[in-house]
Amino acid sequence: MTIFSKIIDGEIPCHRVYEDEHVLAFLDIGPLSRGHTLLIPKMPAATMAELSDDAAAAMGRVLPRLCRAVMAATGCTAYNLLQNNGAAAHQEVMHVHVHIIPKHDDGTGLDLTWRPDTLDDAQSLATAIANAM
Ligand code: 5GP
Repeated sequence: MTIFSKIIDGEIPCHRVYEDEHVLAFLDIGPLSRGHTLLIPKMPAATMAELSDDAAAAMGRVLPRLCRAVMAATGCTAYNLLQNNGAAAHQEVMHVHVHIIPKHDDGTGLDLTWRPDTLDDAQSLATAIANAM
């Protein structure tokens, strides 16, 4: 059982900002910036790939409204959505979650290092992924 399951069950408190039958959103305890919020499904899946279509749809349905609420409450006009899967990809809590991270004028928010490469072998790669869908 992860800490997020305990938050869903009410065993551990959180600063809740939204809840419905399928999802819960609450403030991150270690915010990268003011308003840093987490959205989690109630389904206890570790990664996005393990999530049901319905649970993913429930998250997708609320995300735009949650982003608008974070923007309205904090005054931010820019923000990142971050969704880590697997320890190697910086996931610490093994329960699916989307970070909504405001990028404020003072520079607080998500720091990204982005090193684009050239797209090699695109057609066979696209075909391989398409065939796996
Ligand atoms: P990850 O690296 O797994 O994508 O991020 C996990 C996030 O969960 C971190 O930003 C961390 O601050 C947050 N977090 C971990 N434990 C708790 C907790 O008990 N309560 C809240 N509100 N956030 C937590």
